[in-house]
Amino acid sequence: MKIHILTLFPEMIEKGFQSSIIGKAAQKEILSLHGVDIRDYSLDKHNKVDDYPYGGGAGMLLQAEPVFNAWQSVTGGRAVRTIYLTPQGTPFTQSMAEELAGEEELVFLCGHYEGIDRRVLEETVTDYVSIGDYVLTGGELPAMVMIDAVARLIPGVLGNESSAEEESFFNDLLEYPQYTRPEVWHNKKVPEILLSGDHRKIAQWRLEKSRRLTEKVRPDLYEKYERKQRLTDRLLKDKRNYIHMIESLRRGRAEIIWWEGEDILLYDRSCKLCMITAASKESGRLMLAYAPKETESFVTSQVFLNEMLCGSGGSDMGDEGESYGGYEIHCECYQLVYTQKVPLPVKHKDIRQLTMEHLDYVGSRYSYDGREYVEARIREGVMYGAFVENAPVGFAGMHNEGSLGLLYVEEAYRRQGIAVSLESYIINRTLEKGWTPYGQVIVGNEESFALQEKLGLYRSDRTVWWLEKIKQKGQA
Ligand code: SAM
Repeated sequence: MKIHILTLFPEMIEKGFQSSIIGKAAQKEILSLHGVDIRDYSLDKHNKVDDYPYGGGAGMLLQAEPVFNAWQSVTGGRAVRTIYLTPQGTPFTQSMAEELAGEEELVFLCGHYEGIDRRVLEETVTDYVSIGDYVLTGGELPAMVMIDAVARLIPGVLGNESSAEEESFFNDLLEYPQYTRPEVWHNKKVPEILLSGDHRKIAQWRLEKSRRLTEKVRPDLYEKYERKQRLTDRLLKDKRNYIHMIESLRRGRAEIIWWEGEDILLYDRSCKLCMITAASKESGRLMLAYAPKETESFVTSQVFLNEMLCGSGGSDMGDEGESYGGYEIHCECYQLVYTQKVPLPVKHKDIRQLTMEHLDYVGSRYSYDGREYVEARIREGVMYGAFVENAPVGFAGMHNEGSLGLLYVEEAYRRQGIAVSLESYIINRTLEKGWTPYGQVIVGNEESFALQEKLGLYRSDRTVWWLEKIKQKGQA
């Protein structure tokens, strides 16, 4: 990832990261940090970049032109995600960090004095972000806070790939208390259960501690957590038809945008995906007005929603005056759910996680979602290959929203049980995480249905539709 920081104090950022994990990741070229001194773009011979605010008031403001020229110098006018750090912005959260970690390039704009001339913000900034309800002297520390939180989520930055599922804010809970050696310190003993070796009981103990701690110190988060639990329980009554929503909630991906009775709208921020089910056209129309504008894909459960989403965009107005439309149907799928808890036998013995060295191999054989998508799946560590004499003969993986897929087996190795082994392997990995494995199969793909059903996955009785935003001409 390329990160540019527009600031009056580039050395503060560069020095700040030098000796840290992030600095090491920069040395390893996993990410690049590039400080840009706004003062270098001053129009004034004394390098002045600030002036008095029109209308009076305390302090000075950064002028538009030097900020704009500094921004131009790194973007060349391209539409790069540009974040202005400001106390007036949206509060920074872990899920925002997760979403930003998926970007290839980011620009951080640090204010100083009393801020920046509004007009240049309007022309350059895509996101206004605050790190908390207090006022600092400049945007450098907020930028560093954000960069640290985002960068540690990029695969390869942390030595031991720590899993977000074990950290605070996963599923709106704070982390449980942790202990290390010695077993007794100041007469305080490590809780017995942690020494028991019983992983199921340890997980239960940790979950309970997380719940109690969150309830006590962050009742706001706990309320969100409880609401998601209630919605999950409700959806479980129709598991096969709503498995995509259930798993997205359980895996800590979905936020509830709307839930009233049968009307549900969920948003998975990290893949810009909305999942929606509506009891009526009216409620569907109302909910769509609340779908985040940046939504790139929808999974809908009713045909009438597709008609609204495939409108011309702007012709149909929701209650909030928001326009929607501008999407097209990508496919119609049944959902398939592995309902058992027992792992499956894996006959093919040489199955391994794929790495970037296999990108060409996978990319040239799986073209459905594009090469960039495949690359991201490999980076995330969710692609697995079957090997014969050290050469890959097939692969499968997990889509970005969590369903099983991306299956391919070389012609010469078909009908030898390799596809079954690959899928079984991924099902087992999913079970290990305590999740329910599921897939989505396009209506009419009988070969795939046969494979899923052979593995013991059960088919939903209704279909869902995938819709994708129609790209403007010239967009990738
Ligand atoms: N006049 C501004 C206001 O009242 O909103 C505050 C300006 S502050 C003194 C100077 C700069 O520090 C801001 O432009 C911003 O870049 C940064 N900053 C201060 N507090 C921040 C916060 N909580 N989150 C993000 N950036 C902050």
